[in-house]
Amino acid sequence: MDSKTVGILGGGQLGLMLVEAANRLNVKTVILDAEGAPAKRINASEAHINGSFKDAEGVSKLASKADVLTIEIEHVNTEILSDLQKKNDKIAIHPSPETIKIIQDKYTQKEYLIENNVAVAESIAVENTIDGIKNAGSILGYPFLLKARNNAYDGRGNFVVKSEASVVEAQAALGANTALYGEKFVPFVKELAVMVVKDIKGDVYAYPTVETIHTDNICHIVYAPARVPDSTQLRASLLAQDAVKCFPKGAGIFGVEMFLLNDGQLLVNEIAPRPHNSGHYTIDACVTSQFEALIRAVTGLPLPKGFSSFSTPSTNAIMLNVLGADEPDGELEYCKRALETPGASVYLYGKSSRPKRKVGHINIVGSSLDECQRRLDYILGKSLSLED
Ligand code: ATP
Ligand code: MG
Ligand code: MG
Repeated sequence: MDSKTVGILGGGQLGLMLVEAANRLNVKTVILDAEGAPAKRINASEAHINGSFKDAEGVSKLASKADVLTIEIEHVNTEILSDLQKKNDKIAIHPSPETIKIIQDKYTQKEYLIENNVAVAESIAVENTIDGIKNAGSILGYPFLLKARNNAYDGRGNFVVKSEASVVEAQAALGANTALYGEKFVPFVKELAVMVVKDIKGDVYAYPTVETIHTDNICHIVYAPARVPDSTQLRASLLAQDAVKCFPKGAGIFGVEMFLLNDGQLLVNEIAPRPHNSGHYTIDACVTSQFEALIRAVTGLPLPKGFSSFSTPSTNAIMLNVLGADEPDGELEYCKRALETPGASVYLYGKSSRPKRKVGHINIVGSSLDECQRRLDYILGKSLSLED
């Protein structure tokens, strides 16, 4: 379909699913990550590179074997990517190193969104000292969110500072050398997310608005579409598209996380410049998955035309993350029940199980969200029957 080879920085589960999507289109992929990374296991290729996606040598080797570079994780070294772009105009890098740099520092991202009139929670830079954190508390009020600016995921790097008495604990939890920022606590009623694809020309395409349920800060369940009025779904979609449009040019897929407040207001929480957990449902519920959409966007292949390009009238899906259980492989019970469940498909990433680690996900589709919910309840062992 396309003679370009896509080099992927990172070979975790997102890379794995990207490789699968690329394979279907005969698009070649090369992975840069540690030996045995999940994405390398499903794509036997001599070309894969063992090394770190933060390391100049690995990135330049990857570039020598690819026409296009993309990422499955934002915690890459953007200086290396910018240098590479300057030295080698044959390689395309999507999303642009400039966009990744803005997004990977969550406070820089917030400032950028504010400059571009995208609604976000009030945020301030915080000096990493006891007085600095107390000062943030007096500006933002308690409780507030103290967050690491870099390398955060699954809530690791977030601390809810309940009162001045918990400031010492907050600093110890996040580390005395970590760059920090503070965010006003948002009393949201729901969390919504939209996957937005941007093509090389800068046109954007949105997937349906979904609802994400987090447990212990980890995305646990996704409802597609979100259980909110159509008008709220539409406003969330437009906000997400506006947010993605304001970043420098360069193709990619972006997971836009949002908060819905009691009064209907929407705020962007954060943006991921790559495939996103809230978009895994697209593999089974949409004709074109988020992974295929990214491959098409970065190689310049066509994307479906029209505003609702990725929705299908029958998009009714629930995604359940398979999180490592406390007892070894305990989470496989859910997977076995899913195999008995009509409309459910199981994805395991080949990762070793540790408590709360994302080791797989289950997609459930049905003719209505109620039907999906019955199937979910069966998988979770909350119901013994799949009937009404
Ligand atoms: P991810 O795995 O999505 O990258 P992360 O580590 O970057 O997560 P955030 O998205 O900043 O973390 O926060 C994780 C969760 O914590 C959010 O989905 C939300 O449930 C809660 N949260 C974050 N910021 C706030 C806030 N300002 N007010 C209230 N809750 C918040
Ligand atoms: Mg994040
Ligand atoms: Mg998040």
